[in-house]
Amino acid sequence: MNKIEHIGIAVKDLEQSIKLFSNLLNTQPYKREKVESEGVETVFFQIGETKIELLGATNEESPIAKFIQKKGEGIHHIAFDVTDINNEIKRLQEQNFTVLNTTPKQGADNKKIAFLHPKSTNGVLTELCQEE
Ligand code: ZN
Repeated sequence: MNKIEHIGIAVKDLEQSIKLFSNLLNTQPYKREKVESEGVETVFFQIGETKIELLGATNEESPIAKFIQKKGEGIHHIAFDVTDINNEIKRLQEQNFTVLNTTPKQGADNKKIAFLHPKSTNGVLTELCQEE
């Protein structure tokens, strides 16, 4: 793992949260992107070497909508930058972590990504991402 690539935050109202986080971080988002297959719209802020990713649901069935129903708004996942995502997946499986995407999928922000189930990581949904 190279660094924390970003922290994902689930929000109810993306427009309102963009304003809030622009004020909080004192910078404007550099990217906004829908990942329709995941039912999510993402907004990225660059903070030094790392990023904040706001996550809004695009429909009621979205995992983000379900997360907010269950837990409320807040930190949704932590993403780590990796050099070789396939190697990392293999390494973590050998360590008995539950990898949800054994084949990396296409994520937002030009990344190959894979998630680890929070039950194997002390309740923290963990994302691996490799820059493409
Ligand atoms: Zn993410």
